[in-house]
Parts: sequence; C-alpha cells; structure tokens
Amino acid sequence: MDKYDLIIIGGGASGLMAAGVAAALGKQVLLLEKNDTLGKKLSITGGSRCNITNNTPDINTFLEKFPEGKKYLYSAFSRFSVTDTIHFFQETLKLPLTTQAGGRMFPRSEKAADVRDALVDYARAHGVTIKKSTSVTAINATEGTISHIKTNGSDYHASSYIIATGGLAAPQTGSTGDGFQWLRKCGHKVHQPNPNIVPLITDSAWLKRCSGTTLTDIRITFTSKEKKIKKDGNILLTHFGLSGPLILNTSKEVNTLLKDGPVHTTIDLFPFLNEKELDHKLVTLLSENPRKKISNLLPLLIPRSLARELPQAKDFPDTEIIATELSRDDRKIIVSTLKKITLNVTDIQGFDKAVIADGGLDPSEIDWTTMRSRRYSNLYCTGDMISINRPSGGYSLQLAWTTAWIAAHSC
Ligand SMILES: Cc1cc2nc3c(=O)[nH]c(=O)nc-3n(C[C@H](O)[C@H](O)[C@H](O)COP(=O)(O)OP(=O)(O)OC[C@H]3O[C@@H](n4cnc5c(N)ncnc54)[C@H](O)[C@@H]3O)c2cc1C
Repeated sequence: MDKYDLIIIGGGASGLMAAGVAAALGKQVLLLEKNDTLGKKLSITGGSRCNITNNTPDINTFLEKFPEGKKYLYSAFSRFSVTDTIHFFQETLKLPLTTQAGGRMFPRSEKAADVRDALVDYARAHGVTIKKSTSVTAINATEGTISHIKTNGSDYHASSYIIATGGLAAPQTGSTGDGFQWLRKCGHKVHQPNPNIVPLITDSAWLKRCSGTTLTDIRITFTSKEKKIKKDGNILLTHFGLSGPLILNTSKEVNTLLKDGPVHTTIDLFPFLNEKELDHKLVTLLSENPRKKISNLLPLLIPRSLARELPQAKDFPDTEIIATELSRDDRKIIVSTLKKITLNVTDIQGFDKAVIADGGLDPSEIDWTTMRSRRYSNLYCTGDMISINRPSGGYSLQLAWTTAWIAAHSC
C-alpha cells in the first residue's frame, strides 16, 4: 500500500481546493477522482461562468443567507471568509474576479473552466498526486479512526482522509452520494437528500408556448391547505413550468407545500398597481390608440408570448375588436386576468436538474473549527457532503472553499 499524509476523495470544488492548500502546507497529498476529468460540476457552474462567491465581506451579513446553518458556520467563516476567498483566487491563483448584480462574483474571463484549471494547476504545482478514473468503493474504520480505503484498483492508506464526494445534485457530474453511504455505515447521522434550488413543474400546457419568456417584477403566490408563500421578483417560463433564481430559491418551501398535493399558484403581473390603477393604465393605452386591435395593444403591456396565450382564458374578450369597442366589463376581465394568472405546481424537478440537494451529513457531527468528524479522529468532510441549506448566488461554492481550506489546515 502507498502511504500519504492525506487522501482526498473527490476532485470537485472542495476536493481540489483542499488538495492544493494542504500540499502548499507541505503535506503529501493523494487526490482520487472517479471521473476521467477533474471538477466536472465546477466547470458547469453559473451557466459555465462560475459564480465563485458572493461579495458580502461582513460575515454576519453573509451568514444571514444560512438561517439554519449560521450557528455552525460562524467559527468556520471567521477562519476563512469571503475576503480570504477573493484574496486566494486573485492573489494566490492569479485569477482576476469581477462582481456583478446581487454581489455575484465570477472570474473576469467568465469561464468556469478557468476556475477549475487554476485550482488543478495549483494542486499540481505543489506536488499533489492525482489519480483520475479511480472510484473509491469503501472506507475502512476501526476504533474511531479510518485505517484505509478501497478503490476499483488498489487500497490506499494515509494519516488523514477528506471526503469531498459532493451531494446528490447533478449526479451526471459524478456526485452520486457515495460518501453518504460510507458515513452512514460508519455510524454518522446522514439526512435523506432532496433536490433543492430546482425548477418547478406545472400542469399548464400553454406555458410550453411561452417557454423562454421572463416575467419581470411580478408577484407569485403559492397556496396549500395550510400555508401561503408570496414572492416578488422575476420568473422564467419554461417548457415544463417555472424557473429563474426566484423560483429556484423558493423550491424547497414549495416542495413542503407539495406534500398536500398540487400547489395552487397565481401570478400577478402588476403587483404594484391595484385593479383600479391598472384599469386606469389600460384606459390610457386604449384612448391613445383608439383604432388599434386589442391583440396589438396587449403586447405593449405584457410579453408578446403571454399576450398570445392569455386571450385563451375563460371569458376573455375578443382581441380582434378595436380599442373603442372594448366595454367596461371587458376591461374588468382583462385587468383581473393580468392580476391573477392561475396554474398548479405539481412537482419539483429531479436531482439531475438541481443545483444542490438538501440533506446530507448532520452539521452537528462535525467540529466546525477543523471540519473533523466527531466520531473519527482522522476523517474530515467538506462542501456539499454537509447538510447546510443556502440559496443560489455563490453561497454553495463559498461553503466549499471555506470548508476545504479549514480541513486542509487541520488534518
Ligand atoms: C448546474 C449547477 C450549477 C451550479 N452553479 C453554482 C454557482 O454558480 N455558484 C455556486 O456557488 N454553486 C453552484 N453550484 C453548486 C456547486 O457546484 C456545488 O455546491 C459544489 O460543486 C460542491 O462542491 P463539492 O466539492 O462538495 O462537490 P462536487 O463539486 O460535486 O465534487 C464531488 C466530486 O467527487 C467525485 N466523487 C464522487 N464519488 C466518488 C468516489 N466514490 N470516488 C472518487 N470520486 C468520487 C465526483 O465525481 C465529483 O467530481 C451549481 C451546481 C450545479 C449542479
């Protein structure tokens, strides 16, 4: 058996970071990755642009995005924060970053592959031994320590081990939950993962014909027997239902409503106008264009694809009439339709379309000042392995960087 100071299982975001940092500290590191390429998921993050972190330097403000996990994360982020991450990528890896809307930070090149390559180069430059196409099949534990691991080829032995095999989101990238099975077998508490930050499926066939349309500044309301969730912002209509950051970040809450069956959903296209104000807006539009057909005026109020579909709604007036022919009652129907498009959310999409999966290793099973398992003295876990809920916006990768840096310094 070969002997290393540290074996890292998983060459994704956190595994690559941990490997380079530990090797830079002088450790003999072996990195094992089951794919034939490293950082497969990393290279598709942020629409292949990689939203590397969120530019929120104040730790307390940053951690407000982790309402349940905050109590664990403070000590970790005090050791390696967003500011440290920016410094690491820009100064150590020489990868310039840029900040965009909502504090989202990307590599200036806007290429996720550049982030992966910078981490791989850093690991290689510090002598990390990298074995690709090497799948770890088991970890062997005796009396509170990990003794060795088994792969599809050889067995390997080290003083310390980091499990960085990711969660269950996008299993097509290699994150198939292997680490969860080993941890469960070792007696760790692992919560059943569910897809999270994931699009919603609806029963409305007409949405297909509006696929690709973004509705801006709308209010969407999800209602179940017991609860109502209201959100304001932008949503994307897709061929299967609803997507976009607002929807993705609400999917976990909607999934809980789905336990009671399909979720009644309404979209208000003009949440900042009441019916009277919207009617006034419509009257102004009609009086400015008295000879125009309603079908030609609707696209001046709402996206063209919706303007084609909404007239199919029950009792909607004939859109081939001209503005002066529209009655007060017709106007009323148009206004109430624009303020209340109804549909049913029937499901969330699966792990293959999810950005993260909630669930995973219970955060109380980790010492957050070291990322060490509380059950095994030489076992560390990083990134998506750990059950920490968070929104999209660079928060997942930041969690991967912070946990990886700490584990690399502690083992
Ligand atoms: C489409 C998409 C877009 C995303 N965009 C963003 C974004 O812009 N910003 C953001 O903050 N987050 C984003 N995320 C989330 C982010 O990618 C993850 O949080 C992050 O990659 C987690 O890193 P990790 O190291 O824990 O796991 P991963 O990056 O998933 O890496 C795990 C690695 O372990 C390997 N592995 C698994 N089992 C074994 C085994 N048995 N033996 C050997 N190797 C194994 C896998 O092949 C994989 O390479 C996105 C996720 C997806 C799916």
